[in-house]
Amino acid sequence: MVRKRVLVTGGAGFLGSHLCERLLAENCDVLCVDNFFTGRKENIAHLMDDPYFEVMRHDVTFPLYVEVDEIYNLACPASPVHYQYDPVQTTKTSVHGAINMLGLAKRTRAKIFQASTSEVYGDPEVHPQPESYRGNVNPVGPRACYDEGKRCAETLFFDYYRQHGLNIRVARIFNTYGPRMHPNDGRVVSNFIVQALQGKPITVYGDGSQTRSFCFADDLVEGFIRLMNAPDEVTGPLNLGNPREFTIRQLAELVIAKTGGASSLVFEPLPVDDPMQRKPDIAQARALLSWEPTIALEDGLDNTIAYFRELLGEQATAVQYNAAE
Ligand code: NAD
Ligand code: UDP
Repeated sequence: MVRKRVLVTGGAGFLGSHLCERLLAENCDVLCVDNFFTGRKENIAHLMDDPYFEVMRHDVTFPLYVEVDEIYNLACPASPVHYQYDPVQTTKTSVHGAINMLGLAKRTRAKIFQASTSEVYGDPEVHPQPESYRGNVNPVGPRACYDEGKRCAETLFFDYYRQHGLNIRVARIFNTYGPRMHPNDGRVVSNFIVQALQGKPITVYGDGSQTRSFCFADDLVEGFIRLMNAPDEVTGPLNLGNPREFTIRQLAELVIAKTGGASSLVFEPLPVDDPMQRKPDIAQARALLSWEPTIALEDGLDNTIAYFRELLGEQATAVQYNAAE
């Protein structure tokens, strides 16, 4: 069998590890590249015995010379806490990382997928957000390293497409959750579940009236594969996410009910530039990929809670997770 050689950057991260697993199940020869900033070997340990899975420790801000047929460029910390930890490195990862991976795609003529984000819409004034909306991003705020880095990466993808005829796919991913999120990731779903399981207060930022729309990881990965396999004219940018919208307070109450915990809510200041609302318009993904999410938040949360219950149970105390790994 001739196997497709597929590179996944950020392959040891939350989404990357699910993608590697899915690609191996489809008989691809998978090269996972990661610098392990937020990714973990535990996420991919179960894949290590597969002869068609290979891991390379590498930072995408440096050039990479490998021979591949397809590239999924996911390398970039995604949680606000982590991408603001070293904002200059975040911009470098998005921009230099994109240039390096696009250069690799140009040399090898590989098809290349970019994990872009709903953050390109900033704090949106249009709701829900269609791909045609150009966004409301603060270019000098604390989220800019990520938002503007991802916007510049999109620019680079479309310039390589126009200038060099590259075969590109750009997905704008909305909030996604599931097993293998880092317990100290800082994002809302993992924070709330870990806090509820530990019987700690749930930290709601602001008054909890801001909204997000949460997609389960398996649904998203299905969208990735469909976009990569779509006809060449389907370049995106294409929104991928779950259009069911919740307030953060509703999410907190759902997590408390699902974990059976007795946590109270504590209200903390809203982070600077925190978007007030976010919900994808997925009409294009429905029309072009026949894709839409199938896993309800209630079911995805059950699955994710079970993962964290086991993970936290494996540790003598949760204190070990308090230090950023
Ligand atoms: P994650 O932090 O779990 O994964 C990112 C991975 O990239 C990690 O394994 C990390 O070690 C690796 N990485 C970071 N910088 C790197 C570098 N310079 N070189 C090599 N590897 C590097 O986050 P995730 O949620 O899995 O996100 C994956 C991608 O999807 C990111 O590009 C993110 O921007 C995008 N995205 C995710 C979401 C979401 O809700 N999960 C939403 C929008 C966009
Ligand atoms: N949030 C919260 N408590 C937390 C973590 C996050 O209330 O412990 C809020 C955050 O302010 C934002 C929303 O939850 O309004 C989603 O945050 P996350 O960091 O998951 O992703 P974002 O969509 O902001 O990038």
